[in-house]
Amino acid sequence: MISAIVLAAGSGNRMKSKTAKQFIQVGGHPLIYYALKTFEASIVDEIIVVTRKEDIDYFRKEIIEKYHFTKVRKVVAGGKERFNSVENGIKACDRRNKIVMIHDGARPFVSNKMILDSISATRRYKACTVAVPVKDTIKVVDKEGFGESTPDRSTLYQIQTPQTFDRELLLEAYDRLRASGDRDITDDTMIVERYMDQRVKIIEGSYENIKVTTPEDLLVATALLGSR
Ligand code: C5P
Repeated sequence: MISAIVLAAGSGNRMKSKTAKQFIQVGGHPLIYYALKTFEASIVDEIIVVTRKEDIDYFRKEIIEKYHFTKVRKVVAGGKERFNSVENGIKACDRRNKIVMIHDGARPFVSNKMILDSISATRRYKACTVAVPVKDTIKVVDKEGFGESTPDRSTLYQIQTPQTFDRELLLEAYDRLRASGDRDITDDTMIVERYMDQRVKIIEGSYENIKVTTPEDLLVATALLGSR
């Protein structure tokens, strides 16, 4: 049994829009609709949506009821940081489920293949993420704004979501994170690597699996939808 946590509790400040990012219309539907549609049609058994507290009622009515997303079991409030939102999502998952997938609701182009590949990799390796090789040269920059080093590009990947975990492993990792008080966390693979000494399998994502963050990403998302 598999739970999918779809995150939509960010502030969306970088979008510079009055409408919360997940509700901005793209291709005739709110942005969040696309990721939910893919999870709804997939093998996952339940979807937990994490959104801002003030959006919960609107979300239930305007997204879940309107689009008949029957696998969405709960809509819960997010927290200050992304990892606080994930933690609230984990608490809401069905305890009998063995696998938990975590997905940024701001990535509309997650595919069924990514979901299936993630589940089989998690059965084998306990933790995985989708990712793509970086296209640009990446530099580590020092405090004065000068290049400090240039890592070998062939070893660098851009990490996306879904990120998928054995549920017990993820719970223990979050317990240890809480005990540590660390706050420099940008995704969940970091947490299991740091606190569980768990290797994370990297599986093939897609350059289309963008995270819609700034206004120009909306143009790209609209173009990608038009090409489907
Ligand atoms: O901020 P960032 O771009 O890393 O956010 C990635 C995803 O995490 C987005 O879908 C956003 O809605 C979600 N998020 C959240 N709670 C937060 C911050 C981000 O659910 N406190």
